[in-house]
Amino acid sequence: MGGGSMSDALSVGVLTHREEVFFEQLRVYLARTRTAILSAPLAWALLAYIHGANVGYGAALTWVASIAAIDAVALIISSRFENNLPRPERYAFWRYRQHFLHAIAGLAWGFSVFFFVRPGDVVAELVTYVFLVAVSASCVTALSPFRTAVLLFTVGVWIPPMVMMGMAGDVLHWQLLLGAMALLGVQNLFAWLANRQLLEGIEQAVSNRRLNEALLLTRDELHRANRDLEAKNRELTGMTQRLRELAMHDDLTGSFNRRYLISQIEEEIAVCARHGLVATLLMLDLDHFKKINDEYGHLPGDAVLREVTEIVQSTLRDSDVFARYGGEEFVAILRMTGSDEAKALAERLRHKIALHVFQVFPERRQITVSIGVAEYQIGDSADTWLERADSALYQAKASGRDRVMVYAQLSLPVQSGSVISFARRASSAEDSEAAGRVTGTE
Ligand code: GH3
Ligand code: MG
Ligand code: MG
Repeated sequence: MGGGSMSDALSVGVLTHREEVFFEQLRVYLARTRTAILSAPLAWALLAYIHGANVGYGAALTWVASIAAIDAVALIISSRFENNLPRPERYAFWRYRQHFLHAIAGLAWGFSVFFFVRPGDVVAELVTYVFLVAVSASCVTALSPFRTAVLLFTVGVWIPPMVMMGMAGDVLHWQLLLGAMALLGVQNLFAWLANRQLLEGIEQAVSNRRLNEALLLTRDELHRANRDLEAKNRELTGMTQRLRELAMHDDLTGSFNRRYLISQIEEEIAVCARHGLVATLLMLDLDHFKKINDEYGHLPGDAVLREVTEIVQSTLRDSDVFARYGGEEFVAILRMTGSDEAKALAERLRHKIALHVFQVFPERRQITVSIGVAEYQIGDSADTWLERADSALYQAKASGRDRVMVYAQLSLPVQSGSVISFARRASSAEDSEAAGRVTGTE
């Protein structure tokens, strides 16, 4: 019962459980038939040899030829089965044709008594019966896949001897006849048991194989589902990543947005406070931007905001954060940078923008910016730090635009011309912080 044969059978089409069991039954039947036929020459050659001297080798050969011819046909037919798997609707034909051949072979064996036993030669008769008992007994194993095959073969073997026994009519032969009948009964009983066990085994094997196949299919499906899930998961991770990016960025300019800026300022404050580092904020506002919108329209205005963003981003370091704070106002966090260095950078930015040729305008049109600079101070919150940058920016605007102003602490020396007192724009002028100083350049 090789598993390979069963899957071969499946290749002829999808078999039902019943058909598969029957196929396997038939396959075992034909395979065992071949084994039995291949070992049969031992028996028929010996029987013919023993009797040949008595009855003449002509008669012996005739019998051998007849039984060999039947076996040869059965052998050829049964060998064709596995190389040429029949369709399920042909299984019955294969089964009955083989039964028929077994019945004929059984009869051929039985007819040996008429070839080899002379009337009164009890020894020759008993010797022949011994062979027939052996042959009919061994067929129980070989033909057990089908009880009918055992019945047909054993009845075929024993009918001619029984006829001979009946014709003899003496007590010994009646006793032998009874014995032969008992033998037939016992052999068929054994065939019945062997058949039941074999079928149970086949049923089990087929069920296991089908179960295994179903399991493999389920496993494949699971793998597929798993792969799909993984793909979905990757997609979801990508989407989450994109959403996160969107949540951090400003739609128009692609720079960071205000929410992200505040979170970064808070982080920067924590780092500076913990490690005693410096950092500086730049607050940058486009000068008279309303005019640009009024003159050219909103879309060219948007393009200007994008170009300014590009200029600033290409000037800042990777570690700096640049964000759109609102409208045409931007803020940069310059890490590890004091106000002097920041001021120099702000000046570079201011010049770059002022010299930039904006593609969006039909004629050369200069855009200038004002920039407020505020260094981190111990005790700052995001609001107070931003307020100082805003104050410096306001002062840059107030003192004529197109300039950089640095918020300076009260303690700084006051130099007329370069240090201008101011009032804060955002909160009230009375606010004590309004006493801060802003230094500016143009
Ligand atoms: P100032 O030099 O004092 O900054 O003058 P300003 O005109 O730039 O300032 P104001 O605050 O009066 O006007 C800001 C203008 O910026 C008003 C608004 O139309 C424009 N603006 C704000 N957001 C956008 C935007 O997303 N796209 C465009 N095209 N314009 C914007
Ligand atoms: Mg402006
Ligand atoms: Mg503004």
